[in-house]
Amino acid sequence: MSNFAIGVDLGGTNLRIAAVDEQGALVEKVTLETKISLGRDHVISDMCGAIQRLTNKYTSSAAPLGIGVGVAGIIDMHTGYLRDSPNLPGPDYPVLAEIERRLKTTVILENDANTAALGEQWLGAARNYPDMAMITLGTGVGGALVLGGKIFHGMTGMAGEFGHTTIEPEGNPCGCGNRGCLEQYASATAVVRMAKEAIASGGAPGLASAVDSDARFSAESVYKLAIEGDADARGVFRRVGRALGIALATLVNSLNLPMHVIGGGVSSAWEAFSPAIFEELRQRSMVYAATAPADPMAPSQGAAVHGDPGSDRRTIITRALLGSDAGLYGAARLPMIAGTNR
Ligand SMILES: [Zn+2]
Repeated sequence: MSNFAIGVDLGGTNLRIAAVDEQGALVEKVTLETKISLGRDHVISDMCGAIQRLTNKYTSSAAPLGIGVGVAGIIDMHTGYLRDSPNLPGPDYPVLAEIERRLKTTVILENDANTAALGEQWLGAARNYPDMAMITLGTGVGGALVLGGKIFHGMTGMAGEFGHTTIEPEGNPCGCGNRGCLEQYASATAVVRMAKEAIASGGAPGLASAVDSDARFSAESVYKLAIEGDADARGVFRRVGRALGIALATLVNSLNLPMHVIGGGVSSAWEAFSPAIFEELRQRSMVYAATAPADPMAPSQGAAVHGDPGSDRRTIITRALLGSDAGLYGAARLPMIAGTNR
């Protein structure tokens, strides 16, 4: 076995810990429940226990390269403090120092959108693209920039917050304090809200009966209706695509990157929202219009230039390939590129 690193994805529901080798092969993955209700000390304790067990198990046959942890929330890269994390709630918390104290070794802590981007860049949709951006559509909308194969942190670690780009100046209030953020139109939460707004306006019978019959009505329920052809459900996803297209137009105009990966749970509705992305992009970004692939929707579009991205020079917007494992692989990648990455 080649040397391995430990990657952790500390999600709101699942706490996943994996040993991954230098080639990106999964050695072993452990999935635990994230017991937030028992307090963050309990969550940290579960996590450190699993890291220790996996490390001990494989250290006899291979060298451990380090530990990377991905978690939602704003991490101060200089102090290791975590702010506004839904998965380790409470006042500002020296999470990095606490994990390192328990494990008696150094750990690299990273925002979960950043780890997802690094995973997709290493092994997924953006492999062979050292410069890329990622937007994750989950409960909220996350974003990340990878430049030269390294996460771009900005001054304080907050770079890449594309989810809080303004889409509608007087739009829906956002948790960040702004109004009309991308997150208010492209997250799973937003899909459900927009479906309910369509019902409230009185003209969405398909959505209305789905809400009545399904106590667990979700973004996925809206997607199911959309693929069945329900016009109102399709309208909700057009709005998702439109909002993403507006945000991406600014991003493409600003950075002229070759690769943009859309991930997170809502990205499984790619067919329903992506046509609107490309329509908006063509109208709103001259950089995109000048560099658009012949068929932006073609699934092979990204793969076609793998190996030699320089040969094509097209702006690719594509869906993520690694699903919920992207963050886990990206977290394991952190110690492998440490020294170059921080
Ligand atoms: Zn916001």
